[in-house]
Amino acid sequence: MLADCIFRYAILRIVARIISMPTSTQEKTIFIIDDDEIIRLSCEQILRKSGYTVKTFANGYEGIERLKEVRPPLLVVDIKMPELDGFEIIKIVRKIDPDLVIVVITGYATIETAVDAMKMGAYDFLPKPFTPGELRMIIDRGIERWRLAKEAQLLRKQKEEAERKFVTLVSHQLKGPLSAVKQYLDVLLYTSKDQLQGETLEWISRSQARIVEMIGLIHDWLMLAKVERGAFSDRTVSSDLEKIIESVVREYRQLPAAANLSFHAELAPNLEKVQGDESSLNMLVGNLVSNAVKYNKPGGSVNIRAGKSGTWIVLEVRDTGIGMPPSFRQRLFEEFYRIKTPETQNIPGTGLGLVICKRIVDELGGSIEVDSKEGEYSAFTVRLPIANAKEVEYTKAVGK
Ligand code: ADP
Repeated sequence: MLADCIFRYAILRIVARIISMPTSTQEKTIFIIDDDEIIRLSCEQILRKSGYTVKTFANGYEGIERLKEVRPPLLVVDIKMPELDGFEIIKIVRKIDPDLVIVVITGYATIETAVDAMKMGAYDFLPKPFTPGELRMIIDRGIERWRLAKEAQLLRKQKEEAERKFVTLVSHQLKGPLSAVKQYLDVLLYTSKDQLQGETLEWISRSQARIVEMIGLIHDWLMLAKVERGAFSDRTVSSDLEKIIESVVREYRQLPAAANLSFHAELAPNLEKVQGDESSLNMLVGNLVSNAVKYNKPGGSVNIRAGKSGTWIVLEVRDTGIGMPPSFRQRLFEEFYRIKTPETQNIPGTGLGLVICKRIVDELGGSIEVDSKEGEYSAFTVRLPIANAKEVEYTKAVGK
């Protein structure tokens, strides 16, 4: 009976070991960097018995070189070593692989240094002397953490991909039929306007307006999905902001809503190019100018200024419109957020324009701020890095 129990217990332990053991060779590889040969050999022996593949190194340089190729999930490193010490090694390997789990080995008297190492990104520490059980426990726990982090990363990627596919699929499938319905309504109004009763005419016009709103929402939603994927803005190229402002103003002053507004642009002479691609910058300036038109008052003005400040180009889009109550301002850059007041209730919009602006500015390495006084004005200030700012500064400094 007792023998049977012991046998079952032993089988259970083996099964538990197998389940908790990492699976692929890369997932089973542990690197040990320690100048103490005895520690290297004993750790290797203990961990091999637990099913790990162990690679040991007497110095940091060798270990780091191999780590670049093998990418093990876990590194055990001694803090006190001649030449490259544990702290320096942690700093270097963190840059090579931010997901690497690091366990530091430390002497009794240096618990504080272990704490410092953990602040630098080490996961756990093993004070000397340690038992085989303690070593196994910390390594198993570290490997489990690495596995869970990888699993979470994979799930996050899968979720993002599913969301992206959903947005694209739904939006494309909605856009086509909606555009077709809009065209039918356009044709109906064009061909039969005289025969339609006043009420019917109003219903058709309202339907048209709602469909235009929905098409706008899908357009902004698709745009946001694109910007969020990081596939939209390109900060490796430079663009002429002056040209972009001119073309945006030309486009927006033709809108029916801009009919009784005046536009003023005050641009510093020889404005340097900004970092970023034309299409993102067009969208950024376009959204701000479009809002300055939409939320303006009859007879109001849209004022655009751009100039240099240090290594930045500062762009301001200011209007003399309805402004915003202060309490609403913090939420302006949240998705689908629209200020609901009697003044805004008939103004069409999606609540995505400023979110798109913020993401573009973030991607281009700049910033966006808002200032406003309810009933008087709104002003959006965007700071964008000057293209090759260092080169420009250098050229000026040496007078070339
Ligand atoms: P929308 O499509 O609703 O205009 P935005 O993201 O561009 O979406 O703007 C969010 C909200 O911020 C708007 O609904 C509006 O209430 C407010 N807002 C944006 N720009 C201005 C402005 N120039 N003047 C007053 N309110 C503004």
